[in-house]
Amino acid sequence: MTCEILSIGTELLMGDTVNTNASAVAKVLADLSIDSFYQTVVGDNPDRLKAAIETAFSRADMVITTGGLGPTYDDITKEIVAGYFGKKLVQDEKAIESINRLFDSLGRLMTENNLRQALVIEGCTVLDNEYGLAPGIYYEQDGKTVVMLPGPPYEMEPMLKNKLFPILEQRSGFTLVSKNIRIFGIGESRVEDTLYDLMTKSTSPTVAPYAKQGEVTVRVTARAINREAGLEIVDPVVEKIRAIFGENVYAVDTPNLQTALVETLKAKGLTVATAESCTGGLIAKKITEIPGSSDVFGYGVVSYANDAKMSILGVSESTLKKCGAVSRETAAEMAEGIQRLSGADIAISVTGIAGPGGGSEEKPVGLVYIGICGPNGTETHEFRLSRGRKDERAAIRENASQNALYLALKKAEAIKKA
Ligand code: AMP
Ligand code: MG
Repeated sequence: MTCEILSIGTELLMGDTVNTNASAVAKVLADLSIDSFYQTVVGDNPDRLKAAIETAFSRADMVITTGGLGPTYDDITKEIVAGYFGKKLVQDEKAIESINRLFDSLGRLMTENNLRQALVIEGCTVLDNEYGLAPGIYYEQDGKTVVMLPGPPYEMEPMLKNKLFPILEQRSGFTLVSKNIRIFGIGESRVEDTLYDLMTKSTSPTVAPYAKQGEVTVRVTARAINREAGLEIVDPVVEKIRAIFGENVYAVDTPNLQTALVETLKAKGLTVATAESCTGGLIAKKITEIPGSSDVFGYGVVSYANDAKMSILGVSESTLKKCGAVSRETAAEMAEGIQRLSGADIAISVTGIAGPGGGSEEKPVGLVYIGICGPNGTETHEFRLSRGRKDERAAIRENASQNALYLALKKAEAIKKA
């Protein structure tokens, strides 16, 4: 089976909108090993759209379009495609209902053109739109398949993943099995370098790294006839990569560090507390993002000023005078202070210079100390997080919070279960 992607919208031709839809659809086709040799962009013009559809179907068995399903006069995809197949458009009852429901809830009067969004090709499979009004369409006739997806990416991407993907997967006769290995504390280039052979030589499974916010995810994917067969291919490679990166692999298929931390604390019946200076509550925010975090987290203090460090956490004035607010000693006393207050099994503290001002030669912007206090005493870690990036302050705060979560996770893992 071959499939072409046809992106519809004048804004794409003008360069106003980046064609992210084509890339998202292309990735899905590649994942399912469906050959795709052409991608086309065409404006909201009936004649040129008709010609583009004819051309695409002269080369491919399937055409996936995005865009032009909306209520306005320039949304013409369905009319033109229906015309190509010699079919009529009919109202889809479910789509009409959801349009009516929306306008009722807004207390607004619906305009007639909104009903155009409920039109679908007679005899098609309707792809529900969870985030908008225009449903998608899947239609097969005489060995040709057309799929019409909406333009806005926040509508298109969920429909692609949740509605179209299962249909294409079934048609391809294969299922896709993947695992995501989460790695912290090693840069993307080193991960890539280490896995170079695996990445370039292995086609089943495929091994691909993605970097975001100081973390690297390695995705291991296999195509197989069912999930068990897929796991047989994926699991040994996951174990191999785990062995290579050791404790830097903090989880597999867990979305982020805070989830891994909360899950580990819960499983072990442990609690954590935070005392934050330069991260301003970011660590507490991340922990409390996780539903059920109240089982493991009760105390988080933001102690930005020296006064707060002293009066709330009991950091001594002499430590602040002698060593400064950004020092190992202050980090240690902050962690010990919040542990005394909260009685938590693990206490994390962060103090640092997020910039852009406030740095000196001795204590530059990006210098961060993290204190970790556990059952066996307190340890402190020094970090230099400045990389000369744009929006350095945000990056330093983010990076400091990630390092704190990682250290807390490692501490939780090291504590014997109660
Ligand atoms: P539509 O109603 O289908 O014409 O598209 C509505 C909006 O979705 C457009 O104004 C764009 O902002 C966005 N959009 C349409 N096509 C694409 C595309 N191929 N990639 C990314 N965004 C798109
Ligand atoms: Mg449009």
